Amino acid sequence: MAVLITGGAGYIGSHTCVEMLNAGYELIVIDNFSNSKPDVIERIQKITGKTLTFYEATLLDKEMIDTIFSNHEINAVIHFAAYKAVGESVEKPLMYYQNNLISTLNLCEIMDKYGVYNLVFSSSATVYGNPDRVPITEESPLRATNPYGHTKQMTEQILQDLFISNPMWSIASLRYFNPIGAHESGLIGEDPTGIPNNLLPYISQVASGKLPHLNIFGDDYETNDGTGIRDYIHIMDLASGHVKALEHVLVTTGVEAFNLGTGKGHSVFEMIDVFEQVSKKQIKYSIQERRPGDIAVCFADPSKANHVLQWSAKRGIYEMCKDTWKWQTQSGKQLIR
Ligand code: UDP
Repeated sequence: MAVLITGGAGYIGSHTCVEMLNAGYELIVIDNFSNSKPDVIERIQKITGKTLTFYEATLLDKEMIDTIFSNHEINAVIHFAAYKAVGESVEKPLMYYQNNLISTLNLCEIMDKYGVYNLVFSSSATVYGNPDRVPITEESPLRATNPYGHTKQMTEQILQDLFISNPMWSIASLRYFNPIGAHESGLIGEDPTGIPNNLLPYISQVASGKLPHLNIFGDDYETNDGTGIRDYIHIMDLASGHVKALEHVLVTTGVEAFNLGTGKGHSVFEMIDVFEQVSKKQIKYSIQERRPGDIAVCFADPSKANHVLQWSAKRGIYEMCKDTWKWQTQSGKQLIR
């Protein structure tokens, strides 16, 4: 069973490749390294002791995708390749629509040409925007608030229309909450370029001394300690959700969205506290104004994925912080050959 993974060198893609290889799938991986490094492909193979086929390519090159489909008997696709920085998407909307939408259209067109109708799509909880209530179910209204989120919401719509046009399609859109952590080996993890936007990479770089202190964006939210609450999920739990979603699309048809989260929310102060315990470092912080566009509380109702995919998140925030710290302290090291 051969599965094409687009964006397989990225943060979620690389951890999913590990879980997919461990589950016995043959992988064809493509990535253009726009936000990742070639080293990752080697590390995935080192962790699993298995090999994969790799193409350095962009989905904007339709001829190239066609060649890949003609070279391999592909049964299914897990589609990660996309730009993902919210702030950048506000500054450069055309770049985001161009890349994220055209890539997906090209991919689906070639899948259709080769009769490959099984697709797992990398969506995001950002499609919910500011939710009316928590926990958030898949039925909550979709109202993304920035171009990045719009590309995810639009792609989900495109995929629904595809299924309506041809009921052979079997599609799962996975709406991720806040993935953090790294593979337990410390060989792969999140590798943000420049100053991180997300909380955990930032805390981690403060702990390592790379950044002087954390800016906490608001301590006056209506939460237990005034800081924002999010549903943090261990990247390996998220990765195993993709294997389960793939198993599901292989035996059904239709188009479904699934929340991938733990169902539990944690505040910024809770995350700092746990990170201090695992790293044995003090995390200095300074309270700042609320970040524009931020919401107070966001966590998933993951019961649909629990029941339909037979999947649930297993790891808690202690393990998430521990693995983030291991990656932070090991990632600079070279592979031992
Ligand atoms: N946050 C913070 N300082 C940072 C980054 C994030 O206080 O440098 C807070 C943010 O306001 C939110 C939480 O941490 O309450 C998670 O933010 P992140 O950007 O990681 O995820 P998102 O807001 O996209 O869910």
